[in-house]
Amino acid sequence: MDRKAVAAIGIDLGTTYSCVGVWQNDQVEIISNDQGNRTMPSCVAFTNCGRLIGEGAKNQTAMNPTNTIYDAKRLIGRRFNDAKLQEDIKLWPFKVIKGTSNIPKIVVSYNGEEKEFSAEEISSMVLIKLKEAAEKFLGNVVRDAVITVPAYFDDSQRQATKDAGHVAGLNVLQIINEPTSAAIAYGLDMRNNITRQINVLIFDLGGGTFDVSLVTIDKNSTITVKAVAGDTHLGGQDFDSTMVDYFVEQFKRKHKIDISVNKKALSRLRVACEKAKRVLSSIIDTIIDIDSLHDGVDFSMRISRAKFEKLNEDFFSKCIEMVEKCLGDAQMNKKDIDEVVLVGGSTRIPKVQQMLTDFFQGKELSKKIHADEAVAYGATVLAGKLTGCTGKRVKNLVLIDVVPLSLGTDLYDGSMSVIIKRNSPIPIKNEKTYVTVEDDQEIIGCNIYQGERSRAVDNNWLGKFNVAVPPAPKRKSKIRVTFSVDANGILNCSGVELTTGLKRGLIVTNYKERLTTQDIEKMLDDAHKYKLQDEEYKKKTFVRNALEGYIDDVKSKIKKIGNNTKMIHKKDMEIMEIAIEKASKILNESQLDDFDEYEKALNQLEKVCLPIIAKLV
Ligand code: ADP
Ligand code: MG
Repeated sequence: MDRKAVAAIGIDLGTTYSCVGVWQNDQVEIISNDQGNRTMPSCVAFTNCGRLIGEGAKNQTAMNPTNTIYDAKRLIGRRFNDAKLQEDIKLWPFKVIKGTSNIPKIVVSYNGEEKEFSAEEISSMVLIKLKEAAEKFLGNVVRDAVITVPAYFDDSQRQATKDAGHVAGLNVLQIINEPTSAAIAYGLDMRNNITRQINVLIFDLGGGTFDVSLVTIDKNSTITVKAVAGDTHLGGQDFDSTMVDYFVEQFKRKHKIDISVNKKALSRLRVACEKAKRVLSSIIDTIIDIDSLHDGVDFSMRISRAKFEKLNEDFFSKCIEMVEKCLGDAQMNKKDIDEVVLVGGSTRIPKVQQMLTDFFQGKELSKKIHADEAVAYGATVLAGKLTGCTGKRVKNLVLIDVVPLSLGTDLYDGSMSVIIKRNSPIPIKNEKTYVTVEDDQEIIGCNIYQGERSRAVDNNWLGKFNVAVPPAPKRKSKIRVTFSVDANGILNCSGVELTTGLKRGLIVTNYKERLTTQDIEKMLDDAHKYKLQDEEYKKKTFVRNALEGYIDDVKSKIKKIGNNTKMIHKKDMEIMEIAIEKASKILNESQLDDFDEYEKALNQLEKVCLPIIAKLV
C-alpha cells in the first residue's frame, strides 16, 4: 500500500538540465540527486541491459549516441512536420519518425528490441527520476507537483508537459512559466527590501530556450507579469552547434576529412565544444583536444572567446531584440526597469551580460538568485502555497501571469481573427461570433491558431473543430466561439450554434492533436514496467559488483599473507586460489543476464573462503 504523500514538489524540467525542490518546514530545499548534484541532465539512455536517466545517461552519450535521448523538450507538443523540428532532426544522432496524429516518435534500441517513445514519455522518465530523488529525501511518497515551462511555450507544448507529469504519476497542481517562477524566487529573496512596486526584467537564457519576462513585484508579494517575449528555440545548444559546424569546416580544411557523417565523432565533438564554451566564460581562449576523432586522426584546435562571440553574434543580438519587444509590449522604457535579473546557465556568457548592461545604459545586472536553481525554487514555493502551506511569506503570494501568444481562428479569407490577445492576464475567457459565408452552408469549420501573424496559416496550428449549422441564406447562421485560458496557460475552446437561439448546438472542446487517454494509460503501464526492469537491472549489477568486490577482498588477503605459512596452511591457500580463479572466470565470461550465475559464484566463493579466513591468526 502507498504511504501517504506528504509534501509537494516544484520541478524545473529544463531542455538540458532539470532541478527539483521540496517545500518543507516553511522553506525550499533543492534536492541533490544520487550523484550529489543539485541539477540533473535531462537525458535518458537506452542500452542492452537497461535504461539510464540523468548523469549516467549523459556520461555515455559519445559511446551510444543513437540511443541517448536529450532535447525531449524541443520535441514535446510539436508536430512532426513542424519546420523547426525537421531542422533539429537533422542534427540529432537519434532517430525521430512520424507517429499517429503527426506526433513525433523517437526510435531506440532498448534491451535488444526496437522501441518507439513520444517526447512526453521521455520527459516523464526524467520527471520520475526527480520525483524519486525527492521521495528519497523525504522518506515518503510524492504526488503533487508544480512543473515549469518556458513562458513562450504554446498551448500544445504546455498540454504535453502536463501529460508527461501525469505519465510520471504526478498530480500536476499547476504549470507555471519559468521566468515567473524565477520572479517568485527573486521576490521572496528581496521581500524585506521591496518598499514600493518595482519593475523587474527576468532574462532567462538556458540550454534550449530563451525567455524574457517583465514583471512588477510589490511589497505585498503580488507578482504581475506585464509582458513576455522569447524564443522556444534559442539557447546554449545553439551556441554549441555553431561551434560544432565551425570545427567540422576547420577539420575539413585541415585534414580533408568530412566528419559530419560520423555520428560518434560529432557527438564527441559536441561534448568537447560545450565544455570549451563554459571555459570561454572565464578565460579568453582554449584548446579542444580529442584523440582519434575520426579514422585515427586526432583533433586539436584553438578557439578564442572573440571567435565564439562572433560565431554566435546573431543569437545574442536576437536576445536583445526580444528584450526590446518585451519592453514595447509592456509599454515601458528601459529606464523604468529597476532590476535586471539573470537566470539560466547561458547568462554566464560574458558577451550576453555585456550586451545587456550596454542596453540598459551601464546598469548593474542582478545575480542575487541562483541562475540554475531559481526556477525550481519558485515552483516549489508555489507548490507549497497550493498545498495549503500556512507560512505568511507564501500565503500572501499572488501571481498574475499572461498569455504568451495571441489565440484565434481563421476567417474565410484566410486571415487570423484574434480572440485572446497576447499578454492578456490569465485566467481569461473571451468569445466572438461568426456567420456563414455561403447559402445553405452546413458547417462552420474553426481552425485554431496561436501566433502574431495576420495570415492564419503562418501561425502555429493547434487544432480544428466543426460546428453544424441549420441551412439558411448566407450570413444568417451564426456560431459563438469561446476561448478560455486557465491558470496553467492551457486553452479550452468551444463552439455553439446560435441561430436557433438555443444553446443546443454542438459544443466541441476536444479539438487537439495530442496523445489520447488510451495512449497515456499505456504509457503509465509501461512506466511501471520499465521501473521494474530498472530495479531488476540494479539488482543484477549489485550482485555482480558484490562478487567483484569479494574477489578483490580475498585476493588482497592472499597477497597480504604471501608465503607466511605461520598464518595459513599451504593447502588452504591453494583452495582459495582455485576458488578465486573459478569465480573470476564466471565474472569475466558471464553476461549480465546470467544473474543467477553471479549469485551462485558468490555463494560458492564465500562458502570456501569464509571458514579459511576465520581461521587466520
Ligand atoms: P535549461 O533550463 O534550458 O535546461 P540551463 O539554464 O540549465 O538550461 O542552462 C544550461 C545551458 O547553460 C547549457 O547549454 C550549458 O552549456 C550552459 N552553461 C552552463 N554554464 C555555462 C557557462 N559557464 N558558460 C556558458 N554557458 C554555460
Ligand atoms: Mg531553464
